[in-house]
Amino acid sequence: MLELRPNSECCDKDLPPNSTEAWIYSSERTRCANCVETRLFDLCPNCGGGFEPRPIRPRLDHRSGYRLKNYPASNRRITQEISSEQRGAIASPLKQLPLNKR
Ligand SMILES: [Zn+2]
Repeated sequence: MLELRPNSECCDKDLPPNSTEAWIYSSERTRCANCVETRLFDLCPNCGGGFEPRPIRPRLDHRSGYRLKNYPASNRRITQEISSEQRGAIASPLKQLPLNKR
C-alpha cells in the first residue's frame, strides 16, 4: 500500500490523504504541486526522475475495505531542503532528456 505522507518535503505544507496538490515520485517522496512546478521543475533532486500526482485514498468504503480507516495515512513528517546548487547539479545533465530516457 502506498505510504501517504502528510507534508511537502520542500515547504512542509500539509498534504492530507485527499489532497489533490500532492505529487510523488517512485520512492514515495512527496512534494506539493507548487514546489514541483516552481522549485523542482518536475525533476526529482535525488534521482532525476519525474513526479506524478499522488492518488487520494477514499474516506468511504466503496469496495472490499480499501479506505482510509483501514489503511491510514502516515503521520511521519519529512522535510528535505534542496538548494539551488543541488538542484542545478542534477538538473543540468538531465533537463534536455525526456523522462523515459533519464
Ligand atoms: Zn511544497
